[in-house]
Amino acid sequence: MTGKWLIAGILAVFLLQFAFAAPPTVKKTSENGEMSLKGYIYCIKCQLKKQARADSECQIFGHQRVLQVISASDANGKAHSELNNTILHILINEKSQMLLKDPSFEKKTLCGLRGKVYTEYRLLELTRKEVTAFPAESAAKTK
Ligand SMILES: [Zn+2]
Repeated sequence: MTGKWLIAGILAVFLLQFAFAAPPTVKKTSENGEMSLKGYIYCIKCQLKKQARADSECQIFGHQRVLQVISASDANGKAHSELNNTILHILINEKSQMLLKDPSFEKKTLCGLRGKVYTEYRLLELTRKEVTAFPAESAAKTK
Protein backbone atom coordinates (compact mmCIF):
# COMPACT_ATOMS: atom_id res chain seq x y z
CA MET A 1 0.00 0.00 0.00
CA THR A 2 2.79 2.48 0.91
CA GLY A 3 4.50 1.56 -2.37
CA LYS A 4 1.52 2.84 -4.35
CA TRP A 5 1.47 6.10 -2.38
CA LEU A 6 5.20 6.51 -2.86
CA ILE A 7 4.81 6.08 -6.61
CA ALA A 8 1.85 8.49 -6.63
CA GLY A 9 3.93 11.03 -4.65
CA ILE A 10 6.87 10.76 -7.00
CA LEU A 11 4.53 11.10 -9.98
CA ALA A 12 2.89 14.20 -8.44
CA VAL A 13 6.27 15.86 -7.84
CA PHE A 14 7.32 14.95 -11.38
CA LEU A 15 4.15 16.49 -12.86
CA LEU A 16 4.36 19.63 -10.70
CA GLN A 17 7.80 20.35 -12.16
CA PHE A 18 6.12 20.88 -15.52
CA ALA A 19 3.26 22.92 -14.07
CA PHE A 20 5.67 25.45 -12.53
CA ALA A 21 8.41 25.33 -15.15
CA ALA A 22 9.96 28.76 -15.61
CA PRO A 23 9.49 30.34 -19.03
CA PRO A 24 12.70 30.70 -21.06
CA THR A 25 14.80 33.70 -20.10
CA VAL A 26 14.40 36.55 -22.57
CA LYS A 27 17.72 37.26 -24.20
CA LYS A 28 18.21 39.72 -26.99
CA THR A 29 20.97 38.90 -29.43
CA SER A 30 22.39 42.38 -29.25
CA GLU A 31 23.06 44.19 -25.95
CA ASN A 32 21.63 47.46 -27.18
CA GLY A 33 18.74 45.90 -28.99
CA GLU A 34 18.31 47.13 -32.51
CA MET A 35 19.82 45.06 -35.30
CA SER A 36 20.02 45.43 -39.06
CA LEU A 37 18.67 42.38 -40.78
CA LYS A 38 18.53 41.23 -44.36
CA GLY A 39 16.50 38.28 -45.45
CA TYR A 40 13.52 36.83 -47.22
CA ILE A 41 9.98 37.65 -46.20
CA TYR A 42 7.45 34.97 -47.05
CA CYS A 43 4.42 33.16 -45.68
CA ILE A 44 5.49 30.11 -43.67
CA LYS A 45 2.02 28.58 -44.01
CA CYS A 46 2.06 28.78 -47.83
CA GLN A 47 5.61 27.37 -47.80
CA LEU A 48 4.58 24.43 -45.58
CA LYS A 49 1.53 23.82 -47.74
CA LYS A 50 3.80 23.51 -50.80
CA GLN A 51 6.54 21.52 -49.06
CA ALA A 52 4.63 19.29 -46.68
CA ARG A 53 0.96 19.65 -47.64
CA ALA A 54 0.21 21.46 -44.37
CA ASP A 55 -3.45 22.35 -43.92
CA SER A 56 -2.61 26.06 -43.91
CA GLU A 57 -5.89 27.71 -44.96
CA CYS A 58 -4.35 31.12 -45.63
CA GLN A 59 -7.45 32.09 -47.63
CA ILE A 60 -9.49 31.82 -44.40
CA PHE A 61 -7.07 32.76 -41.61
CA GLY A 62 -4.61 34.95 -43.49
CA HIS A 63 -0.93 34.58 -44.21
CA GLN A 64 1.75 34.21 -41.55
CA ARG A 65 4.81 36.01 -42.79
CA VAL A 66 8.25 35.29 -41.42
CA LEU A 67 11.80 36.50 -42.04
CA GLN A 68 14.41 33.99 -43.15
CA VAL A 69 17.63 35.73 -42.14
CA ILE A 70 20.43 36.07 -44.68
CA SER A 71 22.58 38.38 -42.56
CA ALA A 72 22.30 40.29 -39.30
CA SER A 73 24.45 42.88 -37.61
CA ASP A 74 24.10 44.84 -34.38
CA ALA A 75 24.33 48.60 -33.81
CA ASN A 76 28.14 48.34 -33.59
CA GLY A 77 28.27 46.69 -37.01
CA LYS A 78 29.18 43.31 -35.54
CA ALA A 79 27.84 40.45 -37.67
CA HIS A 80 25.67 37.86 -35.94
CA SER A 81 26.15 34.86 -38.20
CA GLU A 82 24.40 32.61 -35.65
CA LEU A 83 21.16 34.10 -36.99
CA ASN A 84 21.93 33.31 -40.63
CA ASN A 85 19.30 31.08 -42.18
CA THR A 86 17.11 31.10 -39.06
CA ILE A 87 13.41 31.81 -39.43
CA LEU A 88 12.07 34.60 -37.24
CA HIS A 89 8.41 35.15 -36.54
CA ILE A 90 7.32 38.77 -36.55
CA LEU A 91 5.74 40.41 -33.52
CA ILE A 92 2.33 41.76 -34.48
CA ASN A 93 2.11 45.43 -33.62
CA GLU A 94 1.57 48.77 -35.31
CA LYS A 95 5.12 48.85 -36.75
CA SER A 96 4.78 45.45 -38.42
CA GLN A 97 1.35 45.96 -40.01
CA MET A 98 2.69 47.04 -43.40
CA LEU A 99 5.06 44.07 -43.57
CA LEU A 100 2.37 41.61 -42.52
CA LYS A 101 -0.48 42.97 -44.67
CA ASP A 102 1.00 44.55 -47.81
CA PRO A 103 0.14 42.21 -50.73
CA SER A 104 3.49 43.00 -52.40
CA PHE A 105 5.11 40.69 -49.79
CA GLU A 106 3.02 37.71 -50.90
CA LYS A 107 5.90 36.60 -53.11
CA LYS A 108 9.17 35.71 -51.40
CA THR A 109 10.86 39.09 -51.16
CA LEU A 110 14.40 40.01 -50.17
CA CYS A 111 14.22 42.81 -47.60
CA GLY A 112 16.30 44.92 -45.30
CA LEU A 113 14.81 45.93 -41.97
CA ARG A 114 15.62 46.86 -38.38
CA GLY A 115 14.43 45.28 -35.18
CA LYS A 116 15.14 43.53 -31.90
CA VAL A 117 15.64 39.77 -32.03
CA TYR A 118 14.42 37.61 -29.15
CA THR A 119 16.40 34.49 -29.98
CA GLU A 120 14.81 32.25 -27.32
CA TYR A 121 11.44 32.87 -28.92
CA ARG A 122 12.64 33.18 -32.53
CA LEU A 123 10.80 36.46 -32.60
CA LEU A 124 11.55 39.74 -34.35
CA GLU A 125 10.16 43.02 -33.06
CA LEU A 126 10.43 45.71 -35.72
CA THR A 127 11.86 48.94 -34.34
CA ARG A 128 11.08 50.91 -37.48
CA LYS A 129 8.27 50.78 -40.00
CA GLU A 130 10.61 51.22 -42.96
CA VAL A 131 11.33 48.04 -44.88
CA THR A 132 13.62 48.08 -47.90
CA ALA A 133 12.54 45.61 -50.55
CA PHE A 134 15.00 44.39 -53.17
CA PRO A 135 12.64 43.15 -55.89
CA ALA A 136 15.31 42.52 -58.56
CA GLU A 137 17.39 40.27 -56.29
CA SER A 138 14.22 38.57 -55.05
CA ALA A 139 13.20 37.59 -58.56
CA ALA A 140 16.66 36.21 -59.27
CA LYS A 141 16.92 34.15 -56.08
CA THR A 142 13.32 32.99 -55.59
CA LYS A 143 12.88 29.28 -56.11
ZN1 LIG B 1 0.02 32.05 -46.76
